[in-house]
Amino acid sequence: MRNSIAGPAKSSPRRKQPVAKGHVRVTFLGGLGEIGRNCAAIEQDGRIVVIDAGLMFPEPNMYGVDLILPDFRWLIERKDRVDAIVLTHGHEDHTGALRYLVKDINVPIYGSALTLGFARHRLSEAKVAKDLTFIEVADGERRRIGPFEVEFIPVTHSVPSAHALAFRTSAGIVVHSGDFKLDLTPIDNRRTDVARLAALGDEGVSLLLCDSTNAEEPGFTASERSVGGALRRLFLERPERRMVIACFASHIHRVQQIMDVAKEQNRKIVLMGRSMEANVKLARKLNILRVDAADLLDLENIDRYQPGEVCVICTGSQGEPLAALAKLSRGDARYMKVGADDTVVLSSHPIPGNEWTVGRVIDDLHRAAAEVIHSGNEPVHASGHARQGELRTFHQLIRPKNFVPVHGEYRHMVHHAELATSMGLSPKHVLICEDGDQIEVSATGIKRAGQVPAGFHYIDGSAGDLDERPLEERRMLAEYGVLQISAGVDAKQRKLVQPVRLTLRGWFEGEHDRGLLDAVTHEVRSAIESELKEGKVDAEALNKVAQRAAGRLLGQKYRRQPVLMAAIVVL
Ligand SMILES: [Zn+2]
Ligand SMILES: [Zn+2]
Repeated sequence: MRNSIAGPAKSSPRRKQPVAKGHVRVTFLGGLGEIGRNCAAIEQDGRIVVIDAGLMFPEPNMYGVDLILPDFRWLIERKDRVDAIVLTHGHEDHTGALRYLVKDINVPIYGSALTLGFARHRLSEAKVAKDLTFIEVADGERRRIGPFEVEFIPVTHSVPSAHALAFRTSAGIVVHSGDFKLDLTPIDNRRTDVARLAALGDEGVSLLLCDSTNAEEPGFTASERSVGGALRRLFLERPERRMVIACFASHIHRVQQIMDVAKEQNRKIVLMGRSMEANVKLARKLNILRVDAADLLDLENIDRYQPGEVCVICTGSQGEPLAALAKLSRGDARYMKVGADDTVVLSSHPIPGNEWTVGRVIDDLHRAAAEVIHSGNEPVHASGHARQGELRTFHQLIRPKNFVPVHGEYRHMVHHAELATSMGLSPKHVLICEDGDQIEVSATGIKRAGQVPAGFHYIDGSAGDLDERPLEERRMLAEYGVLQISAGVDAKQRKLVQPVRLTLRGWFEGEHDRGLLDAVTHEVRSAIESELKEGKVDAEALNKVAQRAAGRLLGQKYRRQPVLMAAIVVL
């Protein structure tokens, strides 16, 4: 388990040292060692530009945690030196933490029209959009941002209008790949600009920071267009059935393909889920998604049509319990019940950690007698991230002098580093970094330059920030329950006048645990009595003694660690 931000901040002796002339420093604040909360800061001559500000979703054992953010303290301490935030694309793991960051750091936010549109929508939902400056950039545009000239290079990904970034710095060109794949047949024909990447490579790239998500996977990621083919076949085979397709609401090209296939079969299109409706609206406005208003049908009118006349596009492909698909699976959705006439397609792949919740939804859909199709039995999904073949191509185009793998779990970054050295880069020009690491690049090479605090910043939606301690308690409560010890002590007589009693919640009830309970009671009683014998009658101290005695016995003998509470009353 990582330290949360409440843990001791690791501070480095180099922390206060300014970056030397001709050197550029990169500080990784998130996304290196996990898929999520991507954030980095690039710094020159005392000025900082932030690259992405994403969030991460919690693991199932992070009870009550709704979101995990990067630890922004390092940035906030230097907020006067921050010139801008640059967004590579509109995914939550790159933009979802903006609403927390902009409360402290209000600087211009750069990105493509769609990226900014998604970000803006979420900021206004969170009611923090008021006086922010958004600066839209076009594909291929170069702009002066802070101390750098920044170029926005088109890349293909599972959201339209994604960019790689090229920073012109005093230490040469720094390329950040953003999230990408090399899709040669994208839905909008907007390909990754390999010619431009090659030209930058010819000019000389000092440092490459590159997406590692699929660095373990050999070969090439399938084109997004292949998913359209698979969907078309499934629709053609089921002309009489209602088709319900779940996918990411930001995956506008997937949505476009589903709409195109539905239209070919003269099906009406129903949108389900708030973010699906909002994103479709925005993408239509920006001309990124094309659909006739006449082909859209309001959900409340769905039963006026035969199953074969309708296609539903909904959110919830990751099994999110409050999203449309989970509601449909439980029979909780308004206006629509899933049943034997429905084919439900999960046009997605579970993000690691979500397999269990996705499995639950699939089970419930089967219970409702629907047919269910997912990426495990049909090719209804294609990843948005480059596999080894594409990564090799990318490295060959860029031919960087120095390389740091980013955006991945640790093993992904190790595989990516090996890929880079196998392409001829000397290991001394490749650094595997983790969250909090700082590096400096200069004409002579790359080196580590210190560390900053970069633990998980947990957000509990109902209570705000959450430290590691209450979270650890929640884990213990969930696993072992709670044991409350009570007793009464007469201070003058130095003896127990109300017996030791144990109250239990969430743990061992029933006769077979009787012996264990008796043993704990006995242990606690003798611990209290020996304190009393020595004349110690302080209630606080007696509570501690009782807890320690119970904890020792339960831990050593029974390997259980309930949350212990004691209330010894001194009369
Ligand atoms: Zn992405
Ligand atoms: Zn990402």
